[in-house]
Amino acid sequence: MYWEPDIETMPRPRLENMQLTKLKRTLEYAHRSPFYSQRFAAEGIDINKLRTLDDLRRIPFTVKQDLRESFPDGLLCTSYEDVVRIHSSSGTTGQIIVVFYNQHDLDSWSNLMARCMFGAGTRKTDVFQNCVGYGLFTGGLGFHFGSEKLGALTIPSASGNSRRQIFLMQSMKTTTVHIIPSYALVLMTVLNEMGVDPRKELFLKRAFLGAEPYSEATRRRVEEFYGIDVYNSYGLTEMNGPGVAFECTEKAGMHLWEDAFILEVIDPDTQEPVPDGQEGELVFTTIDRQAMPILRYRTKDLAFVYPEPCPCGRTHRRISRIKGRIDDMMIMKGVNIFPTQIETTLMKVPELGSNYLIVLERRNLVDEMIVKVEVRPEFFTGDLRRLERLRAQLVADLRTEILITPKVELLEPSSLPISEGKAVRVQDLREL
Ligand code: ADP
Ligand code: ZN
Repeated sequence: MYWEPDIETMPRPRLENMQLTKLKRTLEYAHRSPFYSQRFAAEGIDINKLRTLDDLRRIPFTVKQDLRESFPDGLLCTSYEDVVRIHSSSGTTGQIIVVFYNQHDLDSWSNLMARCMFGAGTRKTDVFQNCVGYGLFTGGLGFHFGSEKLGALTIPSASGNSRRQIFLMQSMKTTTVHIIPSYALVLMTVLNEMGVDPRKELFLKRAFLGAEPYSEATRRRVEEFYGIDVYNSYGLTEMNGPGVAFECTEKAGMHLWEDAFILEVIDPDTQEPVPDGQEGELVFTTIDRQAMPILRYRTKDLAFVYPEPCPCGRTHRRISRIKGRIDDMMIMKGVNIFPTQIETTLMKVPELGSNYLIVLERRNLVDEMIVKVEVRPEFFTGDLRRLERLRAQLVADLRTEILITPKVELLEPSSLPISEGKAVRVQDLREL
């Protein structure tokens, strides 16, 4: 049931001891990088004087801008000769950053990935199809090496070429896929077009969905359509990539691997820690990385820690579904709105397809939100005016969820652009 029983079920006091030992070693590595040696000097930090896990809080946060300014290798604490790979953030939010890995770092990462996949029921007898971008994006190679370590047959199908994806799933009898949520929804349309019933003609048992925010309603939609279990997968390039936190078969929050990362949750405004159960910004420190440790990295991702332990017996704490990045928050008429709130409402409506776009405009100095959403082919009669009742109902449902009144435009099936990687769900035209 566990990939590494000792580590995954380690009593908390021992786990915290282990964290402290690993943290001390990490600080020694970090000190060798130009960035952290300067920072420690500037802040008067003597790493030998940090004796408890709480002392970590004396070190300032690291933010994305630090990584950008020290591009490419200001945080590297070893030589180019020692490192064997780089990855880079997909650049969803601006200029790219790179992360370096030595062989130890890659082995540690693959092991975490194998642990995640195993904990969600994957075994060496499974056939794993990795339907995400390879290359600099961490989701491809990260899962790839984890799956090979687990011993599963691994199909590096990458994203796109949907018909070939489905052909591979059928002919290789794929049981497990890794896929970005928006692309899982795109494949549903393609399967419908091809007349393939995924419950009868595919062999899928489970899917790992991550890399972008999605709602519980989307999970259910994907699970029902394919007849599978969907597990949430969370990670970010700065912390290796995927494999930071992952759901076990309880499907109730993601175990954060605390033998590899120290987690803090802070109030993004005051930067003070928030208690378990309360939403805040996730902050991570790597404690099992040699080439490029990152200390107290502010992710801008919002989530909370489950206060109670998981019934599965793992002692590593669980984080909730990610509500979104702080940057994704839309402020409309003084109200804070996350795209996932809108998604939750839309995905509950059976008549609606899975593709949608949120457009923000400013007219006569007033902000307006237009939610454009496709109708499911089965409900599309050729005349959208017949769906006026549905449209009006949606406006009302959305108002209840987000507290402002958006405009809703129903669209014909397949009229919005599709995405094979991370989807762009919001078009903000207000600044133009
Ligand atoms: P980029 O920042 O350019 O998109 P990454 O691939 O490193 O590059 O993206 C990591 C980010 O993706 C996370 O910080 C988070 O915002 C988002 N993300 C990853 N997994 C999930 C998930 N399961 N749920 C919600 N958001 C996720
Ligand atoms: Zn669990």
